[in-house]
Amino acid sequence: MSSEKFDAIIVGGGPAGLSAAYFLAKSGYQVLLLEKGKTLGSKNLYGGKVYAKIFKDLFPGFEKEAPIHRWVSKEIFSILSGNESTSLIYDTKEYSAFTSNLTELCSWLGKKAEEAGATIFTEMKVSSLLKEGDKIIGVNVGGEKVEADVVIVAEGANRLLSEKSGLVNETPKHVVALGFKESVKIGEKEIQERLNLEENEGASWMFIGDFTDGIPDGGFLYTFRDYVSIGIVLSLEEAVQSSKEHVSIMLERLRNHPVVKNLLKGGETIEYGAHLTIVDPISYMPRTLSGKGYAIIGDTAGLLGNLGYTFRGVDFAAYSGYIAANSFDKMRNGEWESYDEQIKNSWVYKEVKRFSNVHEIMKKERLLNAYPAMLNEIMASVFHIEKNTPKLGDAALKSMKKWRISPLHLMSDLIRLAREM
Ligand SMILES: Cc1cc2nc3c(=O)[nH]c(=O)nc-3n(C[C@H](O)[C@H](O)[C@H](O)COP(=O)(O)OP(=O)(O)OC[C@H]3O[C@@H](n4cnc5c(N)ncnc54)[C@H](O)[C@@H]3O)c2cc1C
Repeated sequence: MSSEKFDAIIVGGGPAGLSAAYFLAKSGYQVLLLEKGKTLGSKNLYGGKVYAKIFKDLFPGFEKEAPIHRWVSKEIFSILSGNESTSLIYDTKEYSAFTSNLTELCSWLGKKAEEAGATIFTEMKVSSLLKEGDKIIGVNVGGEKVEADVVIVAEGANRLLSEKSGLVNETPKHVVALGFKESVKIGEKEIQERLNLEENEGASWMFIGDFTDGIPDGGFLYTFRDYVSIGIVLSLEEAVQSSKEHVSIMLERLRNHPVVKNLLKGGETIEYGAHLTIVDPISYMPRTLSGKGYAIIGDTAGLLGNLGYTFRGVDFAAYSGYIAANSFDKMRNGEWESYDEQIKNSWVYKEVKRFSNVHEIMKKERLLNAYPAMLNEIMASVFHIEKNTPKLGDAALKSMKKWRISPLHLMSDLIRLAREM
């Protein structure tokens, strides 16, 4: 590696780091990005859906260039209990999100950053940050010291380097969750036929219910060109405290649920992985996002939206990289004050804050067990008709009585859900 001093060193080649590298290099700065994975994106894991607006604004022409698998035209929300389910399906031709393989998306961003002049090295794990007094002056990588005016930390949600260097406090278990995901190859035509999709269209499918054995949060399924990703996200603290079974059993239960089983029929598992994510971003967020010689962006900064029905992190990460690059001039004069200010005034931060209570709601046991069971019971009594045609109201009252849910409980939960999500 060259011994020259860089304007900026970026730790981590995810969407946040790569976006910062691209915008800094585009402005003519000497940028070095270090990624520990074999290739860009090889260590990243996510569900699969990215909201397009930010990518359209930040990277003109992205729709033609980026590795988009499918445009999301179908949003499905399924509430599961036992072998039953009730689903809500929304179909649209007004696409606002796309599915993309994160490794491919990161490679594409990396190519853009390199074309703009950034230097990118993979298989380079930053082991520590170099300090001079209280100022960060560079990084230690593979026994070598490399200096820069600033270090931008974009190491993701598992922020070991930031913790070790004292940039953030130790992450408490209750603010993070573990995501587990399996990619299953089904075939392009099969995906379209089984989900009633057009050629370039895709589905985004969320699940809540008893398949996680009462542990928040839920499950997801996204369609890519010829495969789907199916996974679950489990709040770490609750999983450690009360999980009675291995997570693979929960994922298997979701895979084998009648609502998805046929979609996956004949599929071949091509990938399996796990990754930490953030469920309570405001509590996870460090008090200050920058200091002398450094800034923290993307997941490391807690800039992720836990919307309850989905995680929104990739576009937020790319946007935080853009803001960091934008406020770089002021950062070079020692204290990097304008980055914190720009983030806190940005719509991204406001979005993260707006959804900050969602995780508390998802923790309600009623939401994962009683309500899904009640809903499916009500559906069963309304649609399983023999002689007498049941009334919806009677079925609802009977089920509420069985599950000991008072109208007051129900109303207050519904109001909270509507207000916070
Ligand atoms: C199960 C799950 C499902 C999700 N689903 C979605 C979704 O559908 N849509 C969405 O928008 N978001 C989703 N997210 C969130 C999304 O993945 C993140 O918000 C996003 O990837 C954050 O980007 P980032 O660049 O900040 O971090 P990351 O993507 O995590 O990238 C960090 C990079 O830093 C590298 N790195 C770490 N430490 C070092 C080191 N010491 N030296 C060098 N390199 C290092 C890592 O290898 C990695 O490449 C999901 C997350 C999970 C876990």
